[in-house]
Amino acid sequence: MRDLSNLHTFRLPSQCRDFVEVTSADNLMTLEPQEPWYLLGEGSNTAFIEDFHGTVIHNALKGVQVDELPEYTRVTVAGGENWHELVSQLRSMDINGLENLALIPGSVGAAPVQNIGAYGVEVSQFIELVTAWDVEKRHWAYFTPSDCEFGYRDSVFKQTPGRWFITEVSFLMPKKWHPVTHYAPLNELPEPVTAQAIFDKVIETRRQKLPDPTVTPNAGSFFKNPVVSIEHLKVLESKLPGVVSYPVSDSSVKLAAGWLIDNLGLKSLSVGNVGVNPKQALVLVNKGQAQGAELLALAQEIQDRVYDVTGVELEPEVRLVGAQGLINL
Ligand code: NAP
Repeated sequence: MRDLSNLHTFRLPSQCRDFVEVTSADNLMTLEPQEPWYLLGEGSNTAFIEDFHGTVIHNALKGVQVDELPEYTRVTVAGGENWHELVSQLRSMDINGLENLALIPGSVGAAPVQNIGAYGVEVSQFIELVTAWDVEKRHWAYFTPSDCEFGYRDSVFKQTPGRWFITEVSFLMPKKWHPVTHYAPLNELPEPVTAQAIFDKVIETRRQKLPDPTVTPNAGSFFKNPVVSIEHLKVLESKLPGVVSYPVSDSSVKLAAGWLIDNLGLKSLSVGNVGVNPKQALVLVNKGQAQGAELLALAQEIQDRVYDVTGVELEPEVRLVGAQGLINL
């Protein structure tokens, strides 16, 4: 048995039956785990709700290589590197493009899984190749961006959880840089906007709104921002004046789930030692000694109350792991 409480940022009491630390690609090629297994990076988007009766396979692969090409810088990074440290390192080397994605928690290997994005930039824009070990069929695979089937916070890796252990991601960073500043608060930065100014503003904003998981355990945004039809939005606007939405296509919009939770008066909600973060209602926090069952109960309560008023079904963004693997709310 291995304690998992320090291996996921929500820090719920939990253990796993077996634990494999992957520090070299050779570790993977000899791996034949019994089901169930769970692939873990930094545990910032995972909540172990109870003891997991399986094998946790932890990505501890390290290494960053930088190669200059005529129009790009190629950055090849091992999956177990920390995402924000990579963004900071590139910033200090004046390699620009990822500054909008500063301070997103998690590992580099997890970045393509969710196609992480923030403030108008998605990681898929810079990915050249993802290298992964197929844990089920035991072979190497190489994914171009189209093979990755990237969508909004989505990819082929997310669609087949547990199959692909991402060992390496290579990024092509264009030497010609264009700032992306159309999201608030970056649209208020003084001209000419620099990559350093974006990096600093994103960090300042995230620190103001999001609790530091090393102080207040949490797993970032707990629910996805839901996409609804324009007709559904019209109904919502009559019930909830000022509802925040952004266009996705001619017929659909994305709703700010945090706004819904906040404006339905659920900010003060808590179950036992799990509560809603007062500064950004999309984040649920462990107020100390929380149990997995309390997190599930609070998440279900929020889901039910949002659905009752809006007809919108919030889906968790965080992966919830029970005794036999992934569970739904
Ligand atoms: P926020 O800034 O309050 O935004 C809430 C929602 O509104 C998001 O869905 C965001 O779009 C959307 N939005 C805001 N301004 C927009 C614009 N000008 N045009 C189109 N859509 C707009 O969100 P937050 O929770 O404080 O997070 C800050 C940023 O970090 C957001 O971009 C958020 O998506 C991102 N984030 C990413 C992850 C992840 O990758 N796993 C986790 C947490 C937060 P987007 O969804 O397109 O950003």
